[in-house]
Amino acid sequence: MKNRFENKVILITGAGSGLGQATATRVAGEGAILSLMDLSIDSLEKTQEKIRSAVPSCQIRLCEADASNETAMKDYIEGTAKEFERIDGLYNNAGIEGGENKPIGTYDSKTFDKVIDINLKGVFYGQKYTLPIMEKQGSGAIVNASSVCGIRALPNQVGYTASKHAVAGMTKSAAIEYGKFGVSVNAISPGTTLTEMVVGALKQYSGEKDWEVFAKEYASTNPALRFGVPEEVAAVVAFLLSQEAPYLNGTVIPIDGGQSARY
Ligand code: NAD
Repeated sequence: MKNRFENKVILITGAGSGLGQATATRVAGEGAILSLMDLSIDSLEKTQEKIRSAVPSCQIRLCEADASNETAMKDYIEGTAKEFERIDGLYNNAGIEGGENKPIGTYDSKTFDKVIDINLKGVFYGQKYTLPIMEKQGSGAIVNASSVCGIRALPNQVGYTASKHAVAGMTKSAAIEYGKFGVSVNAISPGTTLTEMVVGALKQYSGEKDWEVFAKEYASTNPALRFGVPEEVAAVVAFLLSQEAPYLNGTVIPIDGGQSARY
């Protein structure tokens, strides 16, 4: 495997689980220096343990913080830049699923605010405090977590759908504002990829049915006839973070087995 991340400093939010953890593991294997953030230090320590078992020499900074808190995000990003003297990549990954499963008329406004605060404002803060650093360096890559729900709508999930559409828009704003500084900003739109968040959602949607039976039926509607796995998303994020193809800027890339292409 190529060492595309040798001496590169990569930040990942929501790195204690799922897609964030898989991406951290992937880029660590290619030589990255990591600054990982999540709500719980315990989950970050598990990620660190997993990475160190494969790459014992990996340099890792851990930060317990809330992505929806602007000051915490500023401290995380600026603290990392101070310690490592640069930021080469940011994966703005921390996010939650809607929680509610209700049509707009009965969708709880507090849940809507919470989803927007984490999924959208968290990505905004990540960009806000990283882009000026990358501008000064004249290089850097940001990958934002959108979703198939940033391309199409999921019924009864207005908070999640709105937040992920907005992330796609914000990605394009950042790309056209900072492209001239050698910075690329792209978003990824994963389809259903088996992580803790998705297992939780499947359990919620399955109602009276056994959730695993429900999951099988749900997966059978995907053109690939299966759910995605975190490593498939991590491979795309690593490619974008590596700036191997820096002319790729302002895109929203589906990683969904072809689901969003279907009429
Ligand atoms: P996950 O629940 O497995 O992991 C998310 C991580 O983010 C957790 O470790 C959680 O503690 C952390 N987190 C949540 N809120 C946070 C906050 N306020 N501050 C800091 N950390 C916080 O979920 P995942 O499936 O790995 O999802 C990661 C991202 O990818 C999310 O933005 C999600 O919306 C997006 N996504 C996932 C899928 C999928 O199918 N798994 C599909 C499309 C998009």
